[in-house]
Amino acid sequence: MIVVMKPNATPEEIKEVIRRAEAMGVQTHPIYGQQRTVVALVGDLTRVSREVFNAMDGVRETVRIQEPYKLSSRTARPENTVVELAGGRVRIGGPEIVVMAGPCSVEDRQQTIEVAHAVKEAGAKILRGGAFKPRTSPYSFQGLGLKGLEYLADAREATGLPVITEVMTVDAVPMVAEYADILQIGARNMQNYGLLQAVGKVQRPVMLKRGMSGTIEELLMCAEYIISNGNTQVMVCERGIRTYETATRNTFDLNAVPVIKQNSHLPVVADPSHGTGYREYVPAMSRAAIAAGADALILEVHPDPDNAASDGRQTLSVEAFGELMTSLNRIAEAVDRYIGDRVLQLA
Ligand code: PEP
Ligand code: MN
Repeated sequence: MIVVMKPNATPEEIKEVIRRAEAMGVQTHPIYGQQRTVVALVGDLTRVSREVFNAMDGVRETVRIQEPYKLSSRTARPENTVVELAGGRVRIGGPEIVVMAGPCSVEDRQQTIEVAHAVKEAGAKILRGGAFKPRTSPYSFQGLGLKGLEYLADAREATGLPVITEVMTVDAVPMVAEYADILQIGARNMQNYGLLQAVGKVQRPVMLKRGMSGTIEELLMCAEYIISNGNTQVMVCERGIRTYETATRNTFDLNAVPVIKQNSHLPVVADPSHGTGYREYVPAMSRAAIAAGADALILEVHPDPDNAASDGRQTLSVEAFGELMTSLNRIAEAVDRYIGDRVLQLA
């Protein structure tokens, strides 16, 4: 349930709503939007009466949230959440379509810095790279671990690009949060509730990837775990789901983009690299994702994709990434958005 405050409600009136609700044994989450302030009440609401709140000073109305996810729902917050990085220089969820690019795995220091410069040059705003890799085989390259985090930090230092990297275990959360600007929760960990709670307790933006067998509702319920633990800087990522189709690595579920945008205020990131599994399909699906309303793209880019330590088949060369970026801007403009520094002048 949400308690919608009147536009002129005082801080004391908001505090009183929170105090009353907590006395009834429910959790409270104030949401301060530009248009309105609401207090979301979550937990066991069986003993909560709407009338009590409707009668309180400063309260305009109470609204039940029908969806099982509450804090991530548009009912709780009609305005888009904007995830801010680098002191507000990069904003995900606003009019700019933000591109995150880089190798699947961080491989060495020099290569990481070089690829960071190259993707920045082409218009990417965030550097991606895995230091801890969730591999199907325990014998495959598992990532450089702490060294990989250090190389990402060096690349950030050299280019100014914020970095996103995966955190796989609860124990590693403090270490990864020290180095990364965005914590990535991988598809295989979407429903690792302990991990979701742990990243919910740190003040670092999180990108939560959809599990390969996760429904959209389950994805938003997982986002709810993070937000209900106190971290509201959450974005969700469509990276393809598992179906009977074998022509591609995964089935890139673009339906998820408008469905999530309608039902949730969280920014939606699209990952056509994992979504398709083949680099030749990545440009078309990147354009499609932007047309569908995605707020950001995450793309695998490597100077020598055929020799990448992981996911080479779906990885773009630096040249192919540059060409793709040029074509994306035209699609962005068609949906009244922009990419990189070419700001669309709206009439
Ligand atoms: C990745 O981003 O390289 C990755 C492992 O993605 P996913 O968790 O979607 O498989
Ligand atoms: Mn990968």
